[in-house]
Amino acid sequence: MIPVRIVVVGSGVIGLLVAVECVRAGAQVDLVDQAGIPSRRATSHDRQRVIRALHRGDATLTRAALRAHQSWLDVERRLGTRFYHRAGALTAMPAADVPASLALLGASGRALSSGELSARYPRIRFPAGLAAVAEPAAGVVLADRALTALACWLHDQPAVRLYPGRRVVTIDEAAAVRFAGGGVLAGDRVVVAAGPWSRDLLPAALGGDLTLYRQSVLSYAPVPSRETWAGTPAIPALGTGHGAWLIPPVANTPVRLSAASACRAVAEMTDRVTPDRWRQHLIDHFRSLLAGFDPAAVIGATDGYYLAATVGGGPVLATLGDDAVWTYAACGGMSFKFAPLIARNIADRAMGRPPRRTGLDSIDRPRRFAAARREEVA
Ligand SMILES: Cc1cc2nc3c(=O)[nH]c(=O)nc-3n(C[C@H](O)[C@H](O)[C@H](O)COP(=O)(O)OP(=O)(O)OC[C@H]3O[C@@H](n4cnc5c(N)ncnc54)[C@H](O)[C@@H]3O)c2cc1C
Repeated sequence: MIPVRIVVVGSGVIGLLVAVECVRAGAQVDLVDQAGIPSRRATSHDRQRVIRALHRGDATLTRAALRAHQSWLDVERRLGTRFYHRAGALTAMPAADVPASLALLGASGRALSSGELSARYPRIRFPAGLAAVAEPAAGVVLADRALTALACWLHDQPAVRLYPGRRVVTIDEAAAVRFAGGGVLAGDRVVVAAGPWSRDLLPAALGGDLTLYRQSVLSYAPVPSRETWAGTPAIPALGTGHGAWLIPPVANTPVRLSAASACRAVAEMTDRVTPDRWRQHLIDHFRSLLAGFDPAAVIGATDGYYLAATVGGGPVLATLGDDAVWTYAACGGMSFKFAPLIARNIADRAMGRPPRRTGLDSIDRPRRFAAARREEVA
């Protein structure tokens, strides 16, 4: 039997994991990226990404994230490289909200009273009276290390051809991609996982429904950081009105500090240099949140981009033509943790198999665009 040939555009976390799943299912894979493979320009190519389950008030997302956590452990075991550090995760919230969050997490959650919070984490000044829910099994993936391990695995597979440094300019619904400067690569199916660049390759009717976000993040390295931060979990919500979050140092990475208030909608991707005003915004915020905060220990700041559905803010999967092209059009700013589930679902679709469910509605029920007209069909 002739193997299915799949062209994958994008070597961020989604493209790499889709490529791995397709190879494991017996496909020939052509993996293309405008940068290297793995791509250092990808949103996914960062030091840390938090993998935690609790999504307050959302049982479906929480259940999916619990499965995603397990899937990351499977990916790690299969690749034989350590990149998932079980630092735990902590979500601060009013004490009255703790029981509902614990109910979502089941055996994976633990309650912390306001007193326990300040006793355990004296460096962090949580807003007065807040309690928290801890997820001891959650943690931090060293994202750049995971991407490198995935790319190395693919590099060693005879069924894979890598095309670094090739920018795709058009996607043909008949399962082909056209490169800048000429040349066409055809397959039986095409998967586009182009991260925040996706709008350049999509029908206008879909691209127009997506919003581009830019987020600033500080790298903070107080001395001596290892002792100071030992035992601190990832804190996706410090409970402030600004939506502050913190990732602790893992394997000598700096502390990462940011807030929802440092995420803004922008018209286009430009540079990744954090403007002074956003750097200062975060410094001012964390000055009041971290005891002994030293602005001189802010060793860097970077901006990252992601696309999200304008309505609902989540990820978007769409198909063009007769299921010959699958495009992961937007990540919703949180899909690193869901990446193994999402990639498996997309790989199933590309292989023409019934897709395994992710539990994420926008992935399990993709949008469809008719061939040629490039208009959405019901
Ligand atoms: C600051 C920040 C913090 C985040 N924190 C978290 C977190 O803690 N947990 C979490 O789950 N998620 C987090 N996210 C979101 C997460 O990083 C993204 O959802 C995920 O990395 C997206 O992966 P991707 O593979 O879809 O896209 P990307 O990683 O951006 O990869 C896209 C790839 O496509 C390539 N490409 C694009 N256009 C073309 C073209 N025309 N031709 C060829 N190649 C092309 C690019 O070079 C790139 O390599 C965060 C995002 C940001 C910005």
